[in-house]
This record gives sequence, structure tokens and C-alpha cells, in this order.
Amino acid sequence: MLRDLLKRHFGYDSFLPPQEEIMSSVLEGKDTLVLMPTGGGKSLCYQLPALSLEGITLVVSPLIALMKDQVDALRGNGIEAGYVNSTLSSNEINNVLRRAFNGELKILYVAPERLAMASFRRFLQSATLSLIAVDEAHCISEWGHEFRPDYRNLSSLRTAFPDVPVIALTATATERVRQDILSQLGLRDPNVFIASLNRPNLTYSVHSKTNQYRRLTSYLQKHEDRPAIVYRASRRGTEDLASVLTSDGFQAVAYHAGLEGDRGAIQDRFINDHVPIVVATVAFGMGIDKPDIRLVVHYDLPSSIERYYQETGRAGRDGLPSDCVLFYSPGDRGTQEYFIGQIEDDAEREGARRRLDALVAYAELPTCRRMRLLDYFGEELGQECEGCDVCVSVDVERFDATVITQKILSAVIRTGERFGAGHVARVLRGGNTKQIRQFGHDRLSVYDIVDDYSDTQIREVVSMLVGQGLLVNSGQFPTLSVTQLGREALQPEAKVLLPVLETVESEPSFGSSQAEYDASLFEKLRSLRLKLARDRGVPPYVIFGDVPLQQMAQYYPQSEETFLQISGVGEVKLHLLGAAFLTVIQDHARLHGHKDLLVGRSDDGPRSRRESNPGIRETDSIADTVRQTRALLLEKLPIDEIASSRRVTQRTIVGHVARLIESGDVNAAEYLVPTGGRLDRIREAFRVHGYYSLRTVRDFVGDSYSYDELMIARAYLRVTNPEAQP
Ligand code: ADP
Ligand code: ZN
Repeated sequence: MLRDLLKRHFGYDSFLPPQEEIMSSVLEGKDTLVLMPTGGGKSLCYQLPALSLEGITLVVSPLIALMKDQVDALRGNGIEAGYVNSTLSSNEINNVLRRAFNGELKILYVAPERLAMASFRRFLQSATLSLIAVDEAHCISEWGHEFRPDYRNLSSLRTAFPDVPVIALTATATERVRQDILSQLGLRDPNVFIASLNRPNLTYSVHSKTNQYRRLTSYLQKHEDRPAIVYRASRRGTEDLASVLTSDGFQAVAYHAGLEGDRGAIQDRFINDHVPIVVATVAFGMGIDKPDIRLVVHYDLPSSIERYYQETGRAGRDGLPSDCVLFYSPGDRGTQEYFIGQIEDDAEREGARRRLDALVAYAELPTCRRMRLLDYFGEELGQECEGCDVCVSVDVERFDATVITQKILSAVIRTGERFGAGHVARVLRGGNTKQIRQFGHDRLSVYDIVDDYSDTQIREVVSMLVGQGLLVNSGQFPTLSVTQLGREALQPEAKVLLPVLETVESEPSFGSSQAEYDASLFEKLRSLRLKLARDRGVPPYVIFGDVPLQQMAQYYPQSEETFLQISGVGEVKLHLLGAAFLTVIQDHARLHGHKDLLVGRSDDGPRSRRESNPGIRETDSIADTVRQTRALLLEKLPIDEIASSRRVTQRTIVGHVARLIESGDVNAAEYLVPTGGRLDRIREAFRVHGYYSLRTVRDFVGDSYSYDELMIARAYLRVTNPEAQP
């Protein structure tokens, strides 16, 4: 029944992992709290139940600018919806409310301040309210980063409508905020759903600022004219960069708070695909819901991980592969420290410093970026991700950096641990500066002992050593000092392996993780989408997202029947848009001799985007590294031995094991799969808690089970147990 509505109105064949459970909770009349990352599919959790409930669903949202698009999108799917907010005249508002009162609307969006108005309260009392959905629910909490005083109006809804179930949804909430939401909204015995914050389709990487502009343009070229946001710290910076990009032939505009009236227009041009690249201060992106942003770049260092996660979160809402790039150089720290030093309030200053430390650690430590991000939010990622720069490079590019490391550490010690990386590099390279002469550093044994590394490369090694914990870099004018770990690295038997330096490699390398689709057909479909969107005055994604267009360009559906199998094509869209898109596909297919690949495949049509796991890069080097692990597995070695012989972490090996098992190669690693009572207990835990949150399962089974063991067992259960969906 729900599934029928899902296909008919939204064109999807299946639910994303927790959607169905959430909807059942709502339909049972339970209060429900949903924590799910951006792009997780939250809106459907109330939109679909709204269709099968009698009466009207009230959606409270602070994002006024989005309401029209959301309502347009629903109408485009044949769902009667409306909104009231301050952008409408009172006549228009009365119209909407009359239609709602007459039962002509299933979904009504309102801004929170509306709830305080007596006329609106009277309307609510007279309407048949079936469900209250509170979107961006973290706005109710003073502890969150986006507190909206108007949200406090919501607490009275519960009292006024004690029998109407409430569903609250948010993408960001710490434990404290979560508790606040529950109590402020007066949720009763609620079902709480917490999905992982992980965004598997986003690839995270950090680059030093060497060749920064060139790196930026290669990323922009990689994504051609697809939507991209480049964040800069200052207004001036956005304008300068946008104009350089423009003179280099990129279509880019600047956006910042000083632009006044233009801002709305720039936002519209971006949403409507008139301009692909926006160079912006953080003000940009708050109120936009564009699902197909392929690239988010931080050209300057943001102020915290929270911010960084939120801003990168704007990429890839549609689930397709997207890049998040951070540029960082150790000197950035000094700049930020300077500003932090100006903060007067002690507690505030300390807080800012802690946030900066966490972010710098994210940028410097050569461990899986995704793991660190999630760890920051208290979530444990079961394995390294293979979708960040560290994981992609961990298995391939490392070099023996023992000698250069020891030279650097000695130089730091000999110069008294009172200087920064620049001075240390100049001493090592035999520089002749005033400072060197003044301190007599040209008479040290470490003077002029490096000629195979440039100053820049030495600094890069320094920043990796900081990352590895061999050096610390502290103070407003950063000075280096050697840690205990660093002293150990000076022992004769020590060995230091580091990732290959960025400054020696020429271009960023990209794995190809895109699905195989016909790019020229895709471009034709995109222009049709743009034209139809302009005709109708809606954003292009309201017509179709990138996922359906890519599927069309991959499977060449040429009849209504096969067109309907495309994800995102429901009955209304087939009816309204089918003919136009089919014509383009048919013409193209005829011209190039492509057959309709969906004929006779109604059961296994295009795989849904989540099943195909687009974020995981399957580069050749990774397939190769799994093969190497497999060879050692066949010798039945313990995991830690395999890890040390392959010079990767244990988690990486566990990841390989899980992949081998899930690909059906159980034999290779069967000796690592838990058995008997242990396996039974794990199976039970996954059955009760589902397969997506390893953390919940770990809580259930207890500490005597390691994450490694759970991951291997999960892979095994998935292939041996048909009910075990991912
Ligand atoms: P959120 O509000 O959590 O950020 P959205 O509700 O905007 O997420 O959904 C994100 C994307 O996922 C949208 O493009 C939406 O159409 C798509 N989506 C939602 N549910 C499904 C589903 N069951 N199958 C396929 N795609 C889905
Ligand atoms: Zn990673």
C-alpha cells in the first residue's frame, strides 16, 4: 500500500533503509524523532504518510525560501500541497487556508511564526489535522547552532492537539539538542530513529595550498559545468577568486552578505542552473535545497568541524558521487589563532581554540577523514572508507621518509625548539638569512645537510610529522617541538613511512566512479530539463533529478512502460513529462542504434542509487590491494599480521575481508567468521537492530565483541541470510 503510493507519486521502487520503519511509526500514531543526514530522505517520511492519512499534514519549516519549490515539487508529483508564509499576500493566504479547510490539500507548509497568530490558530482548530511534522527540529534548541526563537511557539501545539502525532526531523543534533527537542515538543514515548551521519557518496580530501588555484581548476574541470560552491573566508576573497575564474573561462559569480539585493537573484540563478559556480562566504547555501551540487570547496579554513560538515553536507543530496575539498596549510593556523586571540571572553576563546584544534587535526592527521568526522560527532565508522584522500592513497603511495624525518627532528632540537617550519627548513637547506646568522645556526651540525628536498617539500614533511604526532606546532607564531614519539623516531632502528608528497605529484588523480551512462544523451536530457523548467518557472530538479536522467541515459527506455521503471518516474511525471523525454531518447537511440535495455526487465530494472553505492571508489589499485590481501588470507594468517605485512591498518584489512565475503568469496576468509553461539548472538543483534548501525549492534552484544568481528559477521550474514538487507 505505502509502496504503491511510493511508486505512483515519487517514482521509487523501494525505501531507503529506515524510511519504512519511520513511516510505520507515524502511521501507528506514535510520536517520532528522526535524525538523518542531509540527503537521507527525510521529507518522504512525512510526505508519504500524509497521503494515506485522512485530513491534513502540517509541516513546520523555518526555510521560507524553500517552501515554494517544495510545494512545486509535490504538485509535480500529483500531490495537493500549499504553503503560507510572509511572502504571500493576505488574499493568497486566505485562499490556501480555504482550500486546506475544504480538504483539498494533503500537505500544508508553514513558517513557525505563523503558529503564534490567532487567525491561524482558529484555522487549525477547525481543520482536520492528522499529523504535525517539525522539520529542522534542532532550531527549537538554544544549544543548537541555529536557534530560532519562533520555534518555541511549537511547544503549545502539543497541548492544543494532544491526539495528533508529531514527527520531528533534523540532520544535526548533539545529545543535548536531541533531549531538548524531545522535551520542548513534549513528545510522548517517542520512537527515535538515528541514522548514521555518514554520507557515503561524498569523497573528502584535503590539499595543501601549494598550487592551490590550479588544483581548484582541475576539480572544476572534472565537474565541468555542474553546480559547485567554493567557500572563502572574506567578501574580498570571493570577488577576487570569482573574477579570476571568470577571466579563465569559468562561469562563476561571487556571493556575500554585502551584496544586498543581488543575493536573491544569484541564489535563483544557481538553483535554476543559469550559473554553475558560486564563490561564496558561508552565508550562501543556508536556504537552498539544490540536490545536484557536485563539488564543495573550502578555499580557506572554516572555523569548526560542525561548520565544515554542514557546508560539505550541501553536496550530493541526490546520492550521486560528489567531492568535498579542503585547502589547508599549516600557516592557516597562525592566522586563525590571531583572530581567536582577540576574543575577550575566556570561555568563548577557549571554545574557539578547541574547535580550531579539532579541525586542524582533521586536516593534518593522515587517518581516514570520514572516520575522524564521524568520530567527532560520536559515531564510529566500522572501517576506513576508501572514499577519502587518505584511504585512497593509503595502500599505494608511501615512501621511506626515515632520513629526512631524522634530519628535521634533529634540526628542531638543535635550534632549541623555538622556531617554525620555515626557519628549520632554511637551516637544513643552508640558507643565509639574518636570523640564521644572528642565532649562529649556520654553525650547527644540521646546517646545510639537505639538498634533495625543496623548502616547500620540507614544510610538507613537517606538517605530516605534526600529523603523525612526532612534532607539535603551537603558539600564535607557531614553533615546533619534538614529542616523545618524535624522540623515538630518532633511534637507529626507527622507520618512518609517509604518504608521497603532494608537491612532487603533478595533477590530482581521480578515480572514475561515475556510473556508465551515455554522456551525450545525458546532455540532451539536461537541456530538455532546463527548457521545461524555464517554461514552468520551477527549478530544474523539480522536473527530474540527475539520478533519473542518468538512468535514462544508461538504459534508453523507449516506451511508457519501460520509462516508468526509471527511479523518480511516477505516474504523474510519466503523464506530464513522458512524451517529451521519450522523444529525445528515441531520436538519440535511433541515431546511434541503441536498444531499449529495460525491455523484459520489469523485475530487475535500474538498480536504485543506494544499492549501487556510488561513493565507493573502485579504482584498479583498490581491487588490486584486495587481491593482495586475499593471497595472505589464503595462508590463514591472523588479521594483525596481514596488516603489518601489508603496512596498512587492521581496519583496512577487515574492510577487504568484508568485501571479499560480500562479493561471494566466503571461502577465502571463512576462518575469520565467528561461529556457534557468538555468531548466533550477533545474528540476533542485527535482526533486532538492522544492518546499518554497527554501533547500536555493538551496544547490544557488548564489549567482548570487537567491531572487526561484527563487520566480518555482518558481511557473512548478508550473503548467507537472504532477509539480511543492508
Ligand atoms: P533530506 O531532507 O533528508 O535531506 P530529501 O528528502 O531531500 O533528504 O531526499 C534526498 C534525495 O533522496 C532526494 O533527491 C529524494 O528524491 C531522494 N529519495 C528519497 N527517498 C528515496 C527513495 N526511497 N528512493 C530513492 N530516492 C529517494
Ligand atoms: Zn577514508
